[in-house]
Amino acid sequence: MLIGTGIPTAQDIAQIAPPEERMLQGPVAVIECFQEIPCDPCHYACKRGAIREMADINERPVIDYNRCNGCGLCIPKCPGLAITVADMSCGGGRATVKIPYEFLPLPGKGRKVMALNREGRRVCEAEVVHVLNTAAMDMKAKVDEVNKAYLDAFKNGDTASIASLREEGKILTRQNLDAFKFAQQAFLSVFYERPIVPHEAPQENIILAYEIIALLEEGDVDTAVDEYAWMMNNVFEWYAMFFSPEVTAIQDDMFWGADNQDNLYWGTGRNFVKADVEKATRSLTLRYGETGGNFAKEIAIYQDAIEDQTEVLLTLAKAEIEALRELTNMLKL
Ligand code: SF4
Ligand code: SF4
Repeated sequence: MLIGTGIPTAQDIAQIAPPEERMLQGPVAVIECFQEIPCDPCHYACKRGAIREMADINERPVIDYNRCNGCGLCIPKCPGLAITVADMSCGGGRATVKIPYEFLPLPGKGRKVMALNREGRRVCEAEVVHVLNTAAMDMKAKVDEVNKAYLDAFKNGDTASIASLREEGKILTRQNLDAFKFAQQAFLSVFYERPIVPHEAPQENIILAYEIIALLEEGDVDTAVDEYAWMMNNVFEWYAMFFSPEVTAIQDDMFWGADNQDNLYWGTGRNFVKADVEKATRSLTLRYGETGGNFAKEIAIYQDAIEDQTEVLLTLAKAEIEALRELTNMLKL
């Protein structure tokens, strides 16, 4: 039916619709992707891991509604315009729906529009409550427009337009390169050997520390060591399990030492702030295999680390939010 008309049947919809209880709880993604096609940007767009990784790129997306918070980041990444976010928690017989919209001009906020169903039939009057459009999207549209005009002028031999469009292109290129350089400075950090957005380092450490504390409270030191403790500081703690304090001190100096600040790989201000858990890592390694032990001392170290890393996380997150504002201004036309 879908192939013949382009309209999914009630059966098709039933297969992909989130459960009603979930829709009543708040915003959630609805993925109307009915065919097996080689496509997966929705999986990579979702930072919450709600859209499962596909073993084969032709698989249809599978979503975990418990992980989805309806942020909508996946919507613009879907080339098929297959994703919407529905929120039926508003009450009063009303709902909000976030949809991808590809036409120009964009509708204005507050505008009354006609809501249609999948067959194009009128359902009700709707109101545009918000229009989300990024400065980057506007910039891309402008770059596409200038490129197209340039190609047309070139085909028509319009030398005057070619010259002025080239100048316009140069200005846009400079603006984009400046923005790119700024984004690299503000959003590229290193977590040991891994490129990250700066706030991801403390965020990951905090999550791991909570897991370790929960296991130690149950007395399960083996799982804490095997699954989590060595992963702190992006697996840096592994060294504390197998090497002497003198060796890790040398390693720390390589990463954070005053004389190594210009170290191109880890330096240049891109390094992360280490969670201070080495004593706990060493102690847990020595206590591996112990059953029914008291791990209060180690737990206290992880709790302090959570506090310190939370401070770091807040500072970095604030800086990144400011940088996002600045980047938006740099891309404005
Ligand atoms: S709406 Fe947000 S959380 Fe939900 S699937 Fe899309 S990107 Fe993931
Ligand atoms: S990005 Fe869109 S079209 Fe591609 S698999 Fe995901 S939902 Fe389907």
